[in-house]
Amino acid sequence: MSTALLFTQSFIDGQWLKGEGEFDVINPADNSVLTSVSRVTAAQVEQAIGAAERAFISLKNTSCEHRAQVLERWYDLVMANQQALAELMTKEQGKPLAEALGEVKYGADYIKWYAEQARRSYGELIPASNDKHRISVIKQGIGVVAGITPWNFPIAMITRKVAPAYAAGCSFILKPSEHTPLSALALAHLAHEAGFEAGAFNVLLSDRAKEVGEQLCASEVVRKFTFTGSTAVGRQLLAQCAPTIKRTSMELGGNAPLLVFASADLDKAADGIIASKFRNAGQTCVCVNRVLVDERVAEALTAKLAERVQALRVGDGFSAGVDIGPLIYPGAKDKVLQLVEDALEQGAKQVNQAASLDGNYVAPLLLTNVNAEMRISQEEIFGPVLTVATFSDEAEAIAQANAVPYGLAAYFYSQDISQIYRVGEALEYGMVGINEGLISNPVAPFGGVKQSGLGREGGHQGLDEYLEEKYLCLNIG
Ligand code: ADP
Repeated sequence: MSTALLFTQSFIDGQWLKGEGEFDVINPADNSVLTSVSRVTAAQVEQAIGAAERAFISLKNTSCEHRAQVLERWYDLVMANQQALAELMTKEQGKPLAEALGEVKYGADYIKWYAEQARRSYGELIPASNDKHRISVIKQGIGVVAGITPWNFPIAMITRKVAPAYAAGCSFILKPSEHTPLSALALAHLAHEAGFEAGAFNVLLSDRAKEVGEQLCASEVVRKFTFTGSTAVGRQLLAQCAPTIKRTSMELGGNAPLLVFASADLDKAADGIIASKFRNAGQTCVCVNRVLVDERVAEALTAKLAERVQALRVGDGFSAGVDIGPLIYPGAKDKVLQLVEDALEQGAKQVNQAASLDGNYVAPLLLTNVNAEMRISQEEIFGPVLTVATFSDEAEAIAQANAVPYGLAAYFYSQDISQIYRVGEALEYGMVGINEGLISNPVAPFGGVKQSGLGREGGHQGLDEYLEEKYLCLNIG
């Protein structure tokens, strides 16, 4: 594969290092091998931990202004290479090029935001309860951070961790998804060009995630672990972080409901549903997983959805006008088709015609008559399948929406202001889109409650995840 910004080795202590053995990076559009990359060794993981420790010691003594300027340069370099990064992403991840371009910008915006926030890790002065003490609280970088990221956003899931970590003065060891390592390496190269110190951002390549994860979790040098991925793996990593009492951030699975109340503008609701559901071929943790609609407007909404679903175009991410690319790998497609088959067996109705496609492609599907007991309502679909169920009143809608162990994103459409407040407050979710289907934004705190995770990324909150508060008590008596 000839591409700009193509690297195939781990990046440790500012250098490209060949490991032992290789694994393939596959193009999901046709399951062909794009390139092979080198697998990191256990000794190199130790080397990265040592390098990150040294980098943290020197980063601690840099000014926030220095770190802000390095991040600003990184942002500029990412944007100057937007096209090349997007092409690399479409090759290894499959998403349509326009979406990949959008993700590069969105990912870069986290870098810009944390370049600005680097200057704002304000502490606090607290009035003392006696006349001798002067009490202040300062914020300091937590130390070496390790992170594991998924394949669905090969750039943004990295920048929303690495940028705030660096802004706080922390060094970072990243194990990106084995499905999308190339975007991660390109980002590290650009960060290094921008002035990241050797060891400040290391990238470890491995298709043996469990081993690398265990090694990073076991290290006493690593003080913070940040993960984006499935709830099952997050639960395991939390347990592995317990012996060394690490700080953790966990962005885990979701099961996003979208409620459409009778007062909703149904055209806007249908547009919002399509935008939220089919982005990234349905492979995001905040994609609408269940549409719940007031039975009085169900038929009208379904007709609008059917029209829009039929207009979506599926194909190779490099073809013009494509809305939906391939799923990430064959197993992902199998899982989606099994959920559909199960729902149809349990009485769901398929509304649109959907061709059976080759390779990792899945034609968008609209299913009605879906109920809460079906697997398709209980599991994250992670594919281009839209399901519609009905409710008869607000209380039932909220109960259905909250009746899952997850609590990442929820959405609802209503034009009744009292209802907007009531429902917004009643939904047990970390994020709620109201008359809006796309909510991710670098300035706002992204994260979940219940089994969707711990901590927030983005906003000023995202910087605090990498800072420790230290209380200083001065006796002036
Ligand atoms: P997905 O199903 O979306 O790939 P995963 O949670 O399986 O979600 O993967 C997200 C990230 O977690 C990837 O980088 C993957 O390599 C990594 N991963 C998978 N299993 C483990 C594990 N047991 N320990 C550490 N990391 C893991």
